[in-house]
Amino acid sequence: MTMKQHVAQLQKLWQLQELEQKILQQEQGLQNIASTKDYRQKKQDYQAFQENLKKDEEELAAAKKRQRRKELELQTTMELLARLQQKLYSGEIKNIRELEGLEKKVQVKQKEKSKLEDDILLLMESIEGKEQAVLILQKLQKEEYEKLQRLKARAQKDTVNARGKLHDLNGRHAALRQEIDGALLKKYTEMSRRGGRCISRVQQGLCGICNVSLPSSFRARMLTPGQYVFCENCGSLLVPGDC
Ligand SMILES: [Zn+2]
Repeated sequence: MTMKQHVAQLQKLWQLQELEQKILQQEQGLQNIASTKDYRQKKQDYQAFQENLKKDEEELAAAKKRQRRKELELQTTMELLARLQQKLYSGEIKNIRELEGLEKKVQVKQKEKSKLEDDILLLMESIEGKEQAVLILQKLQKEEYEKLQRLKARAQKDTVNARGKLHDLNGRHAALRQEIDGALLKKYTEMSRRGGRCISRVQQGLCGICNVSLPSSFRARMLTPGQYVFCENCGSLLVPGDC
């Protein structure tokens, strides 16, 4: 192996390490895409909003049902009242007691009718208010849904982009590995086990990882084919960076 090849191999190994850092960052980034977080939050808010609206709609439907029931009841009461009044004023009942009893019944039914009318009026007012509120909320729901869809589209686009970048990086990584000598890769794998960066690019005589100043004798050793030189301070494998 020539000196040039030796240096090229070391530099490729350093590039491999840097690529791996980028891949790691990209993987973490993929888990933390801002638009995806926005979308998830918005989706939760939207679901809560939807549930509230549903409750309001159910309440409105229940109030309308109550109104219809009261109206039917009113109709029955009015029919009965009409029959009682007809009987009362027909003159066919001569017995005073019977007449008084009938008169009482009419009064009771009139009270019932009046009470039902009041109830219906109150219900109508409450329904009208509820209906307006529900209408506003339904319109808002439509808008919120559209906003949610826009956020979803953006999150999907960002995710696809980030995955694409990661895919490219992985491709470059695989290609670069092919260019590096197996024994050197094995050494790198062993060194990597301690975690973090372990390949240091030396520039201007400084270790690229711990920044310590390296003796000038290191330079010649780094350039010697087959020689692996390590930083005495941080233990990283040194790679000539500016030659
Ligand atoms: Zn160092």
